[in-house]
Amino acid sequence: MKTAQKNPPAHSVHSVHKTPTNPPDILAPVREMIQACIQCGTCTGSCPNAFAMDISPRGMWRMVIMGEDESITEELFNTKTFSLCSSCYTCTLRCPRGLPLTDAIQALKRIQTRHYPEKAKKNIHFYASFLESVRRHGRVRETEFMTLFFLSMKNPFLPFSFAPLAIRLMAKGKVKPGFPSAGNGALDPIFQKARELEASS
Ligand code: SF4
Ligand code: SF4
Repeated sequence: MKTAQKNPPAHSVHSVHKTPTNPPDILAPVREMIQACIQCGTCTGSCPNAFAMDISPRGMWRMVIMGEDESITEELFNTKTFSLCSSCYTCTLRCPRGLPLTDAIQALKRIQTRHYPEKAKKNIHFYASFLESVRRHGRVRETEFMTLFFLSMKNPFLPFSFAPLAIRLMAKGKVKPGFPSAGNGALDPIFQKARELEASS
């Protein structure tokens, strides 16, 4: 069953008065990417993860278009919408304006990491733990991945919030219990090369 999604806050649709004290418009590059949006909602209707998002993809793009003041930007980066994007590219393929929506979401993630690192902390540790497990074994080992994630978050209560899901997955044989291991390091050169490319870009 789909959960109700919030529309962007009412102040999003009012005109924004810029003052000389406004901070830099960090959303400007993303706004440029999606400024031809006509708010048709095809992206929301196409997104397989929209049911779990607190603001729909269409609503998120409206916030980006209107979000020239800090409170809207802050609200945008409080949503879990873009962090739930799994980069499936469906919205990009179906957008009638041909907008690069998945790339725009990636850009939002980078902006959040740079300007709101505390809000991005969970995602950063989640992705890092996922990739660490892939680096070690060539594929993700779910229990190791989540163990690394819990350790990196340093929150002793966090595992309890995942316990019901873990029990359901184990009961269906989707994940197997196991301890973290170092792996054979076969992918280390690839990961090292990626780090070098990232550092030089
Ligand atoms: S599908 Fe494209 S034009 Fe339609 S709301 Fe989404 S981003 Fe805007
Ligand atoms: S790329 Fe992200 S936002 Fe677009 S349809 Fe896929 S999951 Fe949804």
